[in-house]
Amino acid sequence: MTPAADEAYGRDGAAVEAYGRGRAVEDAPLGDQAAADRTVCNQTAPEETAPDETAPEETAPDETASDQDAQQLTAFSRTLYGRGWMPGTAGNLSVRRPGATVLITASGRAKGELTARDMVVVHADTGAEVSRGELRASAETAIHCAVYGTTHARAVIHVHSPYATAIASRTGHPTRLRMLRVERFELLKGLGLADPTRTDVPVFPNWPEVPRIAADVASRLASTPHAPPGLLIADHGITTWGRDLAQARDRLECLEAICQLLLLTGTGPQAAND
Ligand SMILES: [Zn+2]
Repeated sequence: MTPAADEAYGRDGAAVEAYGRGRAVEDAPLGDQAAADRTVCNQTAPEETAPDETAPEETAPDETASDQDAQQLTAFSRTLYGRGWMPGTAGNLSVRRPGATVLITASGRAKGELTARDMVVVHADTGAEVSRGELRASAETAIHCAVYGTTHARAVIHVHSPYATAIASRTGHPTRLRMLRVERFELLKGLGLADPTRTDVPVFPNWPEVPRIAADVASRLASTPHAPPGLLIADHGITTWGRDLAQARDRLECLEAICQLLLLTGTGPQAAND
């Protein structure tokens, strides 16, 4: 049993309703909401954080690196848009940068038409924009901050891909955290899990207030160090992360494909929870 499963079955004593390969674990608590509110954008990265993050020579802004980051964000955005995973202006991508900042796609921009200038630098701890310009940071910046503050992630991708969103709709609940248990699929090996045979993917409520979603995410990830590198938001979409955009994208592809398989095989959650 994976640590995540321990979390769902043991400590929380959550009831489980099985749907074959994809199961919805009921009523997992979100933990201390107040604490999460305090820590969502103030998390200190765990000890194992990549050593280069704190290397003195990398704490100063590096324009060359940031340009490369912006170009990468542009390229990945266009590719994901081309797959139909970022319809309209949906979705957002970011990379963590030296100096405790994050470069994130701007709000309200069509992701298939982004340029390297359509990016905003924010503080990794608060999500606040470093300098006030014409562009606003993504409306979902707080969720990126929550991931950066509680994991080793150096890149985060959030999209509204259809299969993951469908599974999130079937599994999710308006006000409660749910778990999607996924078992046996070979694609689980693409997530870098300690136990690649099974994992519990959290499905968060899609609160209208994004900071509240971010607080839930921070609370869950802070208390579940072996959580999979991805999460779902009910009726909304999927977020994945990794050491760079390529790894975050690979993990996104695996989870999207798993959600597609759950639907194709009829082994996913069959209906929305109450
Ligand atoms: Zn979204």
